[in-house]
Amino acid sequence: MKNQDLVDYLASCGVCRVCQLRYLKARGNEYRNMQQTFQRLDVKVDDSDLKPSVDEPDEQPPKKPRLSICSTCLGLFSEEFQNQLIDGISKSDFGKYDSAGIVLAISLPLALQLRQLSMWFALQRKFGKSSFNDNSAPDVPIKEAVKLILHPIVCSKLGREYDANGLMINIDVRHSVEAEEVAKLTDLHRVAFPGKKRIEISRGLLEKQYQPARIKADLFEQYLAIPPAAVEEPLHLQSIDLMGPIVCVAGRYRKLSRELSHTPWILHGRRIMEESIEEIIVKQVAPHFTDTVCKVTFMSSGREDVDVRCLGKGRPFVLEIMDAKRSSFSRQQAREMELAVDKSGKVSIHNLQVVPREQLTHIKTGEEQKRKYYRALCVLDEPVTVDILKKLQISESFIIQQKTPIRVLHRRPLHTRPRSIYSVKAYVSRENRRLLIIDVVSQAGTYIKELVHGEFGRTTPSISSIIGKPIDILALDVVGIDLDWPADVNNAETEVE
Ligand SMILES: [Zn+2]
Repeated sequence: MKNQDLVDYLASCGVCRVCQLRYLKARGNEYRNMQQTFQRLDVKVDDSDLKPSVDEPDEQPPKKPRLSICSTCLGLFSEEFQNQLIDGISKSDFGKYDSAGIVLAISLPLALQLRQLSMWFALQRKFGKSSFNDNSAPDVPIKEAVKLILHPIVCSKLGREYDANGLMINIDVRHSVEAEEVAKLTDLHRVAFPGKKRIEISRGLLEKQYQPARIKADLFEQYLAIPPAAVEEPLHLQSIDLMGPIVCVAGRYRKLSRELSHTPWILHGRRIMEESIEEIIVKQVAPHFTDTVCKVTFMSSGREDVDVRCLGKGRPFVLEIMDAKRSSFSRQQAREMELAVDKSGKVSIHNLQVVPREQLTHIKTGEEQKRKYYRALCVLDEPVTVDILKKLQISESFIIQQKTPIRVLHRRPLHTRPRSIYSVKAYVSRENRRLLIIDVVSQAGTYIKELVHGEFGRTTPSISSIIGKPIDILALDVVGIDLDWPADVNNAETEVE
């Protein structure tokens, strides 16, 4: 089979030039300069048919009567449709999004898939199964062709880049033959695959069952034409919906208050605390990126209790913002957000930055392996002795067995977990000899309050069992988390004097 014969036959079936190239299995840029591609493939075509590609806008074709609509793509790759598409996108909320990258998600009628199968049968009949076998489709699939052809054109006309993670333009395309052809397909399906009572015609079903290997051309033809029938109307652009990208804003927070919960604390429908770390941060950061704050998820590398502060470099956190209108901010803007959060007096943030979504794994995984650094203020019944101080200088790591503390049993299952304590160091307070400051480095997930007092032997060994005396904890601070993420960015440096 010569390429010329194939193209002549496709043309006689009302297949457009772009689709002809799809049947010649053209790749990427070959759709840009179609004339050149046809030449290279040894195919002579009537030049007046070939529209200029995007790259050569000055070469206007002579006005000619409207060509009939392609029987395989139903006009999807026609210039008319492209113009309609660009016009539709421009009239949508597109301008509200500053995303540099876009991606098209086109939902196409099933009729296109049926027509692909019909043409497959037609080619087998015309050129034989040796040229077009049952197992590999004869054309570059429409979905792929959309990527190769429509994507570059739309991107260049809108002045945006292609980015699979960018602003998603959901395009719903319909065609007037859809209902009729799907009805015929349903009838065909009852006969071709009997036994199923309920038939739901879906794209997946079509892809799986409707191939020459699974259905006979003769049976297919009793319901739908081979080659595909001509249509009178082109595809119709039903709707365009935009979905902004997911933007992740990371940073580190310090918790300066002993009366602040991590996330909104609501019990039996009533708020226990007015604010939370999450709300204070989201309130200052999210509005820059989105109008709908409810589409923001706050995550952090662990959390602390309401009465525990988090100092030092602070705890890494990230906001995952769905349907973002903006995907970046200047360092100046980041600094303003940091300062606005600092004003709360309860939380302070720094290193605020947009990060790639893949980096969220830093927060989500390896939680158990991380080391946490704590400083606990503890009190004894009697003054601290040298002996007690000596027992609490531990540089070798040791394992404790820790039962789920009673205070969290209502939300965590009862288990005994081994936890590593890497080091313990204690200092006595100068003002009050009964007060001990204890620095603990532990595996993440260790309950420090229970490590100190032992909770009636539910944690062993404990600081209390090591010194052989009762000891209580007055206050606890997290002073370090060994997660070197996100990177240090000193937004403060950008401040203009
Ligand atoms: Zn076509």
